[in-house]
Amino acid sequence: RSLAELDAAVTHCRACPRLVEWREEAARVKRRAYQDWEYWGRPIPGFGPRDAALVLVGLAPAAHGANRTGRIFTGDPSGDLLYAALHAIGLASRPTAVSRDDGLELYGVRITDPVRCAPPDNRPSVTERDTCRPWLARELAFLRPTVRSVVALGGFAWQSLLPALASAGWEVPRPRPVFGHGARVLFPAADGGPPLELFGCYHVSPRNTNTGRLTTAMLRQLLTDAAHSAGL
Ligand code: SF4
Repeated sequence: RSLAELDAAVTHCRACPRLVEWREEAARVKRRAYQDWEYWGRPIPGFGPRDAALVLVGLAPAAHGANRTGRIFTGDPSGDLLYAALHAIGLASRPTAVSRDDGLELYGVRITDPVRCAPPDNRPSVTERDTCRPWLARELAFLRPTVRSVVALGGFAWQSLLPALASAGWEVPRPRPVFGHGARVLFPAADGGPPLELFGCYHVSPRNTNTGRLTTAMLRQLLTDAAHSAGL
């Protein structure tokens, strides 16, 4: 299999009954402002080059954001902030993301989620996180030849990444690294190849940005550091 085939295959996954129901219900009922949209209503694959040096990992699609548009972080306030920051530091071709065919391109960076289907209240269960983990682990394994740094957007991404990185071929340091904004941890490659650096960053959700917990300047700085670590 290739990463392109993996990206295609995940869109057909129906392994989590609660999430399948939620994502399809949101697509059926729709938000009033989006009645004209044909919602995607399926799992969201990673987005960005398949030889990325930097990978950003979020949480899960928003019911009326990525679950509507079919592309990660596209069509919701979290994505508005993230893509604007990526564009400001030269890693995205445009500052906004509105639909799958808006022409947005990412340079050297790929964005993915540990849970690929929209969950109620943006809260996947532990079982759903664990059920979805093989998709993330396989994606990271395909990216292994090129990826040099990973940003966990929030503690959920961090916790999901530790076992996924281990199964994709990196050694998780002991004691297990703890999430924090600005945390940086080196993961040696199990086969002696180049190490990977994991960065912790508060999630780009309105809850963090509206309260000033995560500012635009903090986000840009962290992404810049992670891009440098990845050689971008
Ligand atoms: Fe499949 Fe992941 Fe969606 Fe569960 S969350 S149905 S494992 S793609």
